[in-house]
Amino acid sequence: KSGFISIIGRPNVGKSTFLNRVVGQKIAIMSDKPQTTRNKVQGVVTTDDAQMIYIDTPGIHKPKHRLGDFMVKVARNTLSEVDVIMFMVNAEQKIGPGDRFIMEMLKNTETPVFLIINKIDLVHPDDLLETIVSYTSEYEFVEIVPISALNGNNTDKLLETLKAYL
Ligand code: GDP
Ligand code: MG
Repeated sequence: KSGFISIIGRPNVGKSTFLNRVVGQKIAIMSDKPQTTRNKVQGVVTTDDAQMIYIDTPGIHKPKHRLGDFMVKVARNTLSEVDVIMFMVNAEQKIGPGDRFIMEMLKNTETPVFLIINKIDLVHPDDLLETIVSYTSEYEFVEIVPISALNGNNTDKLLETLKAYL
């Protein structure tokens, strides 16, 4: 199995930490899916039965800045082209304006969206539940996966779950 994944989320939620942990190969490989350009590939994860190619999503990283129509279009196109979107949030924080900006874009795509609750090493289980509810009451995610990108807790399970969507 092979497929494309986009990781989106507010700054500092742990996107880079996650990629650094799971990605084994940073050089772009050639793909038979024509819409994927080389410079957008952030990394590749290869397991014995699957390959996951992480794609950058330009235009979605700076929700505080005013975006031109073109950048909004680029972000939407990318989100429509991937097989799975990983929307990463910080387990310590409930939903906020930066999240809602991104979630508005998600409403315009058919691509399945995972809610990744990162930094679970920093929160009490009761608070984790409150965080999850604050997000799931505003959007229907296909999967909800709590992880710690820093210590690797549940990241294997996340990769396993992703495979089913490739
Ligand atoms: P990005 O802006 O989304 O790419 O976030 P980074 O990957 O740069 O992470 C921002 C900060 O959060 C860094 O100091 C990371 O070490 C920290 N961080 C990321 N993931 C975790 C986690 O699972 N647990 C904890 N405690 N810290 C984390
Ligand atoms: Mg980063």
